[in-house]
Amino acid sequence: MKKVLAFDVDQTLNIAKTPIPDEIADLLTQCLDHFEICPISGQKFDQFLFQIVDQLKDAKPKQLEHLHLFVAQGTQYYRYDAKKKDWQQVYNYPLTDAQVKKITEAIETAAKELGYWEQDKVAEGDEIIENRLSQVTFSALGQKAGTEAKYAWDPDCKKREAIVKRCKELAPEFDYEIGGTTSINAVTPGMNKVFGMTHLLEELKVSKEDILYFGDMTQPGGNDYPVVQMGIETITVRNHEDTAYALRGILGLIK
Ligand SMILES: [Mg+2]
Repeated sequence: MKKVLAFDVDQTLNIAKTPIPDEIADLLTQCLDHFEICPISGQKFDQFLFQIVDQLKDAKPKQLEHLHLFVAQGTQYYRYDAKKKDWQQVYNYPLTDAQVKKITEAIETAAKELGYWEQDKVAEGDEIIENRLSQVTFSALGQKAGTEAKYAWDPDCKKREAIVKRCKELAPEFDYEIGGTTSINAVTPGMNKVFGMTHLLEELKVSKEDILYFGDMTQPGGNDYPVVQMGIETITVRNHEDTAYALRGILGLIK
């Protein structure tokens, strides 16, 4: 029996960048009674609150103690303190300013050279490149672009693969991963989901065999692939409907 259910977020629990649907919220709340629940994604902490925690309206503080937020690919870890009724940061491994600058320049140069720098399509006040402290994230159309436009931008990942290839020449000391629908996450080597999952193993005092991981980008080059490579049992989903289907099955086995 698994002890931990770990989840990629965008496209696994939700439609990218949007709150998880009610059905997923309900299933996750039920799962909190039986498993440690660990979302791990490149998103920032406030997005974890907006997309996941705020939707778990029926979860009791005692249940939330079994929810573990592995923010920015697990380079930051938050857990719930039921007494204080608040989230506490357990650890944080940020990039240096110099690293952020180097990555930002490489991505901008690569995207501009390839003709994929879509400044005119980005809403005012929004940004294409975002410093998420432990990683730098490129979102081709900005953070706030509509879902449809995002899906249409690079459905076969070819644009992002080209940007990644060029970035690897410009700033080879960093790792670049394709995630979400328009994004690339840049991190220092090892600061990918392996880092997060390795810390998860330590923090929760569990072994790889105790974990079942759900992700939509489990193919080589995808941001869930490092988890596969670690030898953690993985379920590849196309969307949150697949995830809901699997969770219903798992809960059905318990009851
Ligand atoms: Mg995903």
